[in-house]
Amino acid sequence: MSWYRRASAPCLKGGGRRRSSGAFLSATARRCSVAASSARIRSGSKGYLGEDDIELFLPPLEEMPEVKGYEEATFELCSIPPPVVLTPADSTEEAGDLKPFTELPRLSKGEVRSIMIRYADSKCAFDKNAPRDMDIMSIDYRPGYKYTLESFTEMRQVSWSFEPYTGGPLDEVNESEPPPEPWDIECPLPKPFQVHSMTLDIPHTDVLMTCHVCGGIGSKRCTACSAAGWERCSLCLGDGHKLSLQGYRERCYRCLGTGRKKCWKCNGETIAVCFTCSGTGQIRCFITITISWSNHMDSDILEPSDALAVSEKLEYVNGYLVFQDEKPSIPSVTFPVKDLQMIATAILEKHRSISFSEKLLLQRHGVWAIPVNKVTYEWKLRQDVFFIFGTKNEVYAPDFPESLCCCCVIS
Ligand SMILES: [Zn+2]
Ligand SMILES: [Zn+2]
Ligand SMILES: [Zn+2]
Repeated sequence: MSWYRRASAPCLKGGGRRRSSGAFLSATARRCSVAASSARIRSGSKGYLGEDDIELFLPPLEEMPEVKGYEEATFELCSIPPPVVLTPADSTEEAGDLKPFTELPRLSKGEVRSIMIRYADSKCAFDKNAPRDMDIMSIDYRPGYKYTLESFTEMRQVSWSFEPYTGGPLDEVNESEPPPEPWDIECPLPKPFQVHSMTLDIPHTDVLMTCHVCGGIGSKRCTACSAAGWERCSLCLGDGHKLSLQGYRERCYRCLGTGRKKCWKCNGETIAVCFTCSGTGQIRCFITITISWSNHMDSDILEPSDALAVSEKLEYVNGYLVFQDEKPSIPSVTFPVKDLQMIATAILEKHRSISFSEKLLLQRHGVWAIPVNKVTYEWKLRQDVFFIFGTKNEVYAPDFPESLCCCCVIS
């Protein structure tokens, strides 16, 4: 296991093998700045960049061997595009037959009335008589549609990693047995459309190196105490005495009056074990591959005509699944509803660009019909409309008759 594996942004391609770059330094500086602040808290140092910070630097990239197929690898994750597939893609157009709407549940006048009675009962201000006595003139059923496309993809990123070498066999770089290409490395697939990632060591990429932090010694001068072996007592600030609650000057119980204590890092020994190589003086460098599976999902809603009042609400309600299909790659689809097809075509086109950087494994798309009922009613010689929509019969009735609310009465 490596505890130095770095998760970072993919490197830019085409820049050649980088020896020393701004991106490398900034990534390192970011890591160091976090370490530096914690080191300051612990040691009370004045904030200079000490050896503690330097030990978090990475091994020199220029000393890494060029490994066949991994010439671009650095200590940051570098995305490897999938190989171009030369076999012609399936371009047959899919007929997206929607489930007939006659099979979907429709609301009767009695159901509409019951829904509105429940709704009025739940709203303090609504007239409770209106839903019971109103004349339901028409129920205009106009479904909206939600189209969703999911693209399940795999991305592969490589990087150099390193860890202390504490002995054991090495699988070193050798010309007679080059490592497998990034996209030839086999690994178990997760369940379709599930986000997952794993990091594997690439065989035949081990390099044994002298630790770049301690120069192979395995230990170094303690920077927490500047090799003094002790540090100032933080309770009495080096005085050895402090004031008691009653105001008497008394001996500091933490340092027993000495004003100092053993260094937290070296325990008074003035030298510290090198963290980078765990004191062995050597590190194992190797190339790792990080395989990430993602699910790219996009959806859009086709709003029903003449129902603008509820169109924004349709995004948050459920519909009935009227079409679904799954394929390794969906080239195009034809829907009987023209505007729905335009939405599907635009989203399918958008997902085509994913395959340049990631390998497309599977696509799934579906259409949900979201019921929208525009109800026209008359009550007390006034005609108005309200909407009942979604599978859970949500109500939108901004102009529904109100009564003088009990909680609004000023006595
Ligand atoms: Zn070392
Ligand atoms: Zn003290
Ligand atoms: Zn020390």
